[in-house]
Amino acid sequence: MKVIDLRSDTVTLPTPAMREAMYRAEVGDDVFGEDPTVNRLEAMAAERMGKEAALFVVSGTMANLVSLLTHCGRGHEIIVGDLAHTFLYEQGGSAALGGIHVHTLRNQPDGTLDLQEIEGAIRADNIHFPRTRLICLENTHNRCGGVPLTPEYTDAVGDLARRHGLAVYLDGARIFNAAVALGVDVRELTRGVDTVSFCLSKGLCAPVGSLVCGTRDFIAEARRNRKIVGGGMRQAGIIAAAGIVALEQMVDRLAEDHENARRLALGLAEIPGISIDPAQVRTNIVIFDLVAERPTSAEFAARLSADGVKVLALGERIRLVTHYGIDAADIDKALVAIRKVMQEAG
Ligand SMILES: *Cc1c(COP(=O)(O)O)cnc(C)c1O
Repeated sequence: MKVIDLRSDTVTLPTPAMREAMYRAEVGDDVFGEDPTVNRLEAMAAERMGKEAALFVVSGTMANLVSLLTHCGRGHEIIVGDLAHTFLYEQGGSAALGGIHVHTLRNQPDGTLDLQEIEGAIRADNIHFPRTRLICLENTHNRCGGVPLTPEYTDAVGDLARRHGLAVYLDGARIFNAAVALGVDVRELTRGVDTVSFCLSKGLCAPVGSLVCGTRDFIAEARRNRKIVGGGMRQAGIIAAAGIVALEQMVDRLAEDHENARRLALGLAEIPGISIDPAQVRTNIVIFDLVAERPTSAEFAARLSADGVKVLALGERIRLVTHYGIDAADIDKALVAIRKVMQEAG
């Protein structure tokens, strides 16, 4: 029986073209700046994001940490959503390792931060206060159900930041999902921000890696910070090669994942006991609620798993993510299994 794994798009395996590229990759010592494949990936990433330079790092978490360490010094404050990955799922790394103070604002259901609330959160120049340095956004917004932030919104935050002498950092782990869903060039989503990172290892299927993109000076400093957190890699071209294939071959097909997510959401909306608004499903993430007390989200996930469908229990809620390797027939099979679990519970 094929297991239909909808827990995350991080479960995607490298494609045959990636394995071939990894096998053939020309490599060197990247800490000396001598890995031609890494250099090529970084140049490609910078170009795609419309920034001067890029830095290859191990993970999205490292991309966020290195970026925050580079933007901020000890005691500086960042403004970030209370549902941001950076705030929820990274062990408070920016505080633990960087002494960075985190000022959270409530994320709106559409993944945005209210502009007036951002403005209100910026600290005045006062000996009692930390100094605000950075505004952090996330696109698509993971915990808000994969919603894409628009170019207009991102530009508005950029304008606000510049008026106050602040920088903007975008956690664009799934920025290509946002661009594909909105039908815009990814640069429209990054032109308003100073720095952006994105993941190769989610919907783009590469085995490892993220990129931080920004000005040449910023990336030079970020390279130092990558080294201090142990992220200097040697013949990293082996994994960068898969990243190049990811950028060349795996971006446009994200539309299929979005279509499958929509199919899944529409099917879920017809199952008694499940609460979901399919209109909220814009990219490859589907989050829903179980209406009754039973099954709990943990029971639901466990029973489905026994039927060969893996989902993630996120507290009380359930998350499913579509990705490469999951087709419409898999979605239909998953829906049959979910309906069965709900009927048995009801
Ligand atoms: C997955 C994710 C990250 C972290 O990426 P890892 O490679 O798992 O460390 C950061 N931000 C967002 C929005 C993510 O979805």
